[in-house]
Amino acid sequence: MSISTILILGGGIAGIASALALSKELTPLVPDLKITIYELRDIPSTSGGAINLTPVAQRHLDQLGVIAELDHMGPDAGVEVNAIEYYSTVTGRKLGCVDFAGKHGRGFGGYRGRRCMRIALQLAMMAAVEKCPNVSFEFGKKVVGGIETEKRVTIYFDDGSSAKGDLALGCDGVHSATRTKIVDPERLSEYTGISFIQSTMKASLVTSPMHFETTALNKSRRGALMTTFCDRDKEDLFVAALAEVDAQNLAETHWKSYWADESSRAKVMAVKRLRDDLRGRFGEAMQPCIREIIEKCPDWFLYPVYQIQPGGKWFTERIILLGDAAHAMPPRDESAAYALDDAILFARILSSYVYEPLTSAFRVYESIRRKPIDDAYRDASIHWSQHKDSSSRSGLSARINEWFMPWSMRARAKKAKHGAWVFDARSVNIPSPAARSWKIESWSDLGSTMSVQ
Ligand SMILES: Cc1cc2nc3c(=O)[nH]c(=O)nc-3n(C[C@H](O)[C@H](O)[C@H](O)COP(=O)(O)OP(=O)(O)OC[C@H]3O[C@@H](n4cnc5c(N)ncnc54)[C@H](O)[C@@H]3O)c2cc1C
Repeated sequence: MSISTILILGGGIAGIASALALSKELTPLVPDLKITIYELRDIPSTSGGAINLTPVAQRHLDQLGVIAELDHMGPDAGVEVNAIEYYSTVTGRKLGCVDFAGKHGRGFGGYRGRRCMRIALQLAMMAAVEKCPNVSFEFGKKVVGGIETEKRVTIYFDDGSSAKGDLALGCDGVHSATRTKIVDPERLSEYTGISFIQSTMKASLVTSPMHFETTALNKSRRGALMTTFCDRDKEDLFVAALAEVDAQNLAETHWKSYWADESSRAKVMAVKRLRDDLRGRFGEAMQPCIREIIEKCPDWFLYPVYQIQPGGKWFTERIILLGDAAHAMPPRDESAAYALDDAILFARILSSYVYEPLTSAFRVYESIRRKPIDDAYRDASIHWSQHKDSSSRSGLSARINEWFMPWSMRARAKKAKHGAWVFDARSVNIPSPAARSWKIESWSDLGSTMSVQ
């Protein structure tokens, strides 16, 4: 099998990480390797706010050369996060925390958490790509479809152009066109029922003391408000409410027209609506800084969160889905680590199976990756359901729930951490091609699960 031309569809975390990992693993084996990332946007997006990088995500990004680039960015490299602290806005009580510092304060595997702006991470990843001579970026390329033959894959873009390759990776996120137009058209994205109402602001606007070190999730009976610094010098705050918002309300907020015209009346009305909504959810918070943030944050944006159902098909003959395109689950501050795991694992498998049919590599990948992803999806769904509106519960029921939260959080955090660390894409055992127990029956026999020993 010759796989010298690789098309990566989508230039987000999964896409860029795949390019970096494939370049690293395949360059010694494929002298004429050419990897091209095709990205929908014309320029890197400044939207999306801040992202939390778990110790696992940091470890992977370091291996790909991204942390070094991020660290060159001064204050924009983000703030080190020792823990995500949980507070009740009803009692003001600290409910617990998700610890990233570990027992001895040295982190996990030497890494703690980090919160930075998404655009900073994107630019650091692109800077790492610039150091790979066989990887290039093409912006303004929206995937609209594709066809495969036994030997090649052709991808079509909305500007009428096309690209041919030996292999295509669908890394185009939750609404993936690679998935819905080619690989698994039945599996459409769906609204989770929860939206982020989010913004960034200067910390100096808040005069009340902040009750958290770097990051807090402040739970009320009507959702949770994340308040977090997102730069090294703690000058910038990222604020995001996780709130149940029904689809009808979503439509009425006209969030699309809001983005279209910065000064429009629609935008002014949308910000007012969102601020009013936040006042209803968190306006009586015991922490004065929360009340101040809601009033003083200049802008609010509605960011509806989508997911896809677990399961589904991940590959065809020459195309495989990675990251959110394959398994977008309710976010739990760690999905970026899953996208990085996908990229590193797939690159390692492909380098071991470089002389085998592509579908052998795809099947090995799925056999290793499916279960950890299904487990993560289940845990994320349980965690997500806790952000649903509980204002209809009786006062006693809500108080009991809050009272037991430190215990349930500790148990969940232990389980999640265990799960995240047990699966390490860098060291997971990859069966050698000689040890395989399957036989490819035909090109059409591709969706079936076959055992790998
Ligand atoms: C509100 C929210 C908050 C989150 N917070 C965190 C967090 O704090 N920590 C964390 O670890 N995870 C978080 N996640 C999850 C994390 O953002 C995703 O899991 C991660 O970004 C997945 O990376 P990806 O590359 O698969 O997809 P994406 O990051 O979505 O990237 C997809 C890329 O493909 C491009 N694209 C889309 N369609 C096309 C097309 N047709 N043609 C070409 N290109 C296309 C897009 O422009 C984009 O650049 C959060 C998710 C949400 C929704």
